[in-house]
Amino acid sequence: MKYRYEEFTWPEIRAAVSDQRVAVLPVGTIEQHGPHLPLVTDVLTATEMSRRAVEQIPAEAVLLPSVFYAFNEHHLDFPGTIAIEGNTFVNYVTDIGRSLAHHGFRKILLVNGHGSNVPFLDVAARNITNQTDAICAMVPWWNLIPKPLIAELRESEAPGGMAHGCELETSVLLYLRGDLVQMDKAEKDMHFQKSEFFFWDLQISSPVFFQEWFSRYSKTGTVGDPTKATLSKGQRFVEAVVVRMISLIRDFRQREIQPRVDHH
Ligand SMILES: [Zn+2]
Repeated sequence: MKYRYEEFTWPEIRAAVSDQRVAVLPVGTIEQHGPHLPLVTDVLTATEMSRRAVEQIPAEAVLLPSVFYAFNEHHLDFPGTIAIEGNTFVNYVTDIGRSLAHHGFRKILLVNGHGSNVPFLDVAARNITNQTDAICAMVPWWNLIPKPLIAELRESEAPGGMAHGCELETSVLLYLRGDLVQMDKAEKDMHFQKSEFFFWDLQISSPVFFQEWFSRYSKTGTVGDPTKATLSKGQRFVEAVVVRMISLIRDFRQREIQPRVDHH
């Protein structure tokens, strides 16, 4: 059964809408990920986890072509990064959602692979929800990892060891595309000024929202400890994310869109 949106014909899209399939849009970024990981890391993780989830429940979801370019101006000191201005990025993703809603899709799920996409995709999802008859939600894939699994597998310092090109992302890449990982170049890089208010970690939220030029606090383009990464950890993380993403898609698909009430 087809699940890749771009391979459908228009009558097949119309049928997918009437089957109330959830539209799943992976969003990554093209940016440096240290000396050991490829620029495509965030696209690859979000896309492949989404693909594995949708592939298992094709009657319930469709997989959109991924968004490759996103917001990462703060990474431009490292060669390779392609940065899209924030409002352009928000509007671009909003337009994708508006088109899907126009065709009749009512549930749109953004699967995010890049930390700094979070505020922009949150706004895009709200725009789509407010401006169309659809509802749109966004999830960063690392939020779908059960906390006990992190506790079981994590060897790097917390917070800090799982931030960027880190133990977590490198493990996942080793499992998904080991041919693109140069482990001999992986290096621990935790030079940021850590305080109770300021730190970076994909699994532990700092109380303060703050992002400065990446080169101010990372020497290698990594933040975290990729030397603790292994393929088997990556497999456990990916499998856990895919299971929970399937649950999320099903939950979202069943979710009732209740009528608005104008209290004027
Ligand atoms: Zn990343």
